[in-house]
Amino acid sequence: MAKIVLKSTYVSDECETCGLNFASGFDVTIDGEPFGDYEAIATCFGSSSHEASAVLKDILEHFGHTVEGDCV
Ligand SMILES: [Zn+2]
Repeated sequence: MAKIVLKSTYVSDECETCGLNFASGFDVTIDGEPFGDYEAIATCFGSSSHEASAVLKDILEHFGHTVEGDCV
């Protein structure tokens, strides 16, 4: 069995013009190896957040499963 570790990350960036930008992401490892790129990025020009459901879908697909549904 693989050991999967998800650590949630959070970044914020305060801009004098735009105010507060924030994003959430994950550091993911599978059996100690980094998996995917779910870095949270917060900028004035658009933030990049990642949902846990999407991360879990990628992990399941990594292990050969097919995931369908409207929440992933
Ligand atoms: Zn700005």
